[in-house]
Amino acid sequence: MLKVEKLTSAYGRIKVLHDISLDMGQNEIVAIVGSNGAGKTTLLRALSGVQPVLSGRIMFDGKEIQSVPAHLRVARGLVQSPEGRQIFGPLSVEDNLRLGAFRRARENVEQGLAQVYAMFPILAEKRALAAQGLSGGQQQMLAIGRALMAEPKLLLLDEPSLGLSPLLVDQILAAVVDLRNRGMAILLVEQNASAALAIADRGYVLETGNVVHSGEAQALLSDPKVKEAYLGL
Ligand code: ATP
Repeated sequence: MLKVEKLTSAYGRIKVLHDISLDMGQNEIVAIVGSNGAGKTTLLRALSGVQPVLSGRIMFDGKEIQSVPAHLRVARGLVQSPEGRQIFGPLSVEDNLRLGAFRRARENVEQGLAQVYAMFPILAEKRALAAQGLSGGQQQMLAIGRALMAEPKLLLLDEPSLGLSPLLVDQILAAVVDLRNRGMAILLVEQNASAALAIADRGYVLETGNVVHSGEAQALLSDPKVKEAYLGL
């Protein structure tokens, strides 16, 4: 599904990703964890095409995409739900969702809305309200819902747990597991490493732009070095 080979990226002359390699299969949740500034967001932005790549390859669905513009990556099914949500506050909840649906045939849009509402019933209740009136957790659900409207094969999720109560974190992560169980691949970036690894199949630990550990999520969770440095245990 996704294969990244020796990806390098920089802000100006400062390199922030150094030869990152990773791969993920269909139907897998892969967690990218690491402390503040490790390069997690930059990696996702490079994959979705809004951050330039200096060198390396990104293969998606068997094709090289590192030179493909962002909107065409979305059209192929590589869809990011950004950090900070970036919803359109004055628009209604439902209009925000419809904005994500540009890839869908018209008759398919209602079906997409029904799926999102089934996953997050609170969004159905609030469908006619301005999105800016939603709580932080509900806005996160809306951002994920909008990404789902674009029919991702691979969903890139940036910090979905940021600022949420533990109950809402559980609810969002349960939705992620549900999507994986229905055949989607999800690349999950999280500072909350233990929550992310608890639902992931595999994980990569980033430190100052390098992959320093990788493996089965359960193995990472019980690795003493990972525990001490990233799980606060
Ligand atoms: P966080 O969880 O805080 O978002 P992160 O792991 O996602 O951290 P990045 O945001 O990818 O890390 O940042 C990686 C490095 O790039 C950091 O050193 C950061 O200061 C730097 N950086 C990020 N955005 C920019 C920018 N727009 N211009 C210059 N440097 C940046």
